[in-house]
Amino acid sequence: MTGIHTIDTHYLGLAEVAAAYLIVDGDRAAFVDNNTNEAVPRLLAALAEQGLRPEQVDYLIITHVHLDHAGGTSALARACPNAKVVAHPRAAPHVIDPAKLVASASAVYGQAEFDRLYGTIDPVAEDRVLIMEDEQTLRLGGRELRFLHTRGHANHHFCIVDTATNAIFSGDAFGLVYPALQGEGTFAIPSTSPTDFEPELARESIRRLVSERPSCIYPTHFGRVTDIEAAAGQLLRHLDFAERLRDDAENSDRPDEALEAYCRARLFDYFAGLLDGMGNLGRDPNTWSHLKLDIDLNVQGIAFAANKRRRKAQTAGG
Ligand SMILES: [Zn+2]
Repeated sequence: MTGIHTIDTHYLGLAEVAAAYLIVDGDRAAFVDNNTNEAVPRLLAALAEQGLRPEQVDYLIITHVHLDHAGGTSALARACPNAKVVAHPRAAPHVIDPAKLVASASAVYGQAEFDRLYGTIDPVAEDRVLIMEDEQTLRLGGRELRFLHTRGHANHHFCIVDTATNAIFSGDAFGLVYPALQGEGTFAIPSTSPTDFEPELARESIRRLVSERPSCIYPTHFGRVTDIEAAAGQLLRHLDFAERLRDDAENSDRPDEALEAYCRARLFDYFAGLLDGMGNLGRDPNTWSHLKLDIDLNVQGIAFAANKRRRKAQTAGG
């Protein structure tokens, strides 16, 4: 049925952590993000549930090439023979030749863990990849999709405005809003993971999304967000803190390799403060275990950014 459908990819075996979205317009369809190879059967099942065949999928849109968003692209492209992969100009080269992406992720996770999580990622033929510039539009059935380049989380990231509903698919540019962590009010945290995190640009992207006055936002992690103002306020404050932390780490006299431990201690403190304001949910040990992986990635991203600025300052200073 025409509309937007949320698919739980069960990433890492967990419910409601990473989504893919299916947009249906009449007899045409598009996926937004696709998680990993393991999620592809779930995506195809969601399509069948709408009474559609893989041949009716026009677009496989990826918000950026991080593997919890685009890890299943090559497998999904094989399953949907008429679909174009729609990507940011800086993401497209990694879709066409994933070797570098695979090598760097394998180095982070270790080969065995990479194979277990992501399996084989094949190249996608260049003529099946469609690059979307900032503000470019694309027709899907009777509706139009508009693309907004949004840096801060990743340099190869865009968001998609569905002009039929004025909903925005935000990838990781409007933070992480896990259903399990929603209490009385909205609870949103930014993703500051390596290697492109830039707080100024991340704030700019959030402001740009808000200025579109969307009816709702669909972050990949996870589902539909309607209290946009509250979420944006939390994200902007959190990014201010992350920026101070990056600067403090950069300017401290600690050696490069000690910055991660320094950021970890302070970010955990910051989260403890956030969770204090969450009532019973904040005191639930499950909340911490739910957040642990993201806090860890966020620590790494902030420390990486601090080290990157140190190297840049050294180069500039001769
Ligand atoms: Zn990401």
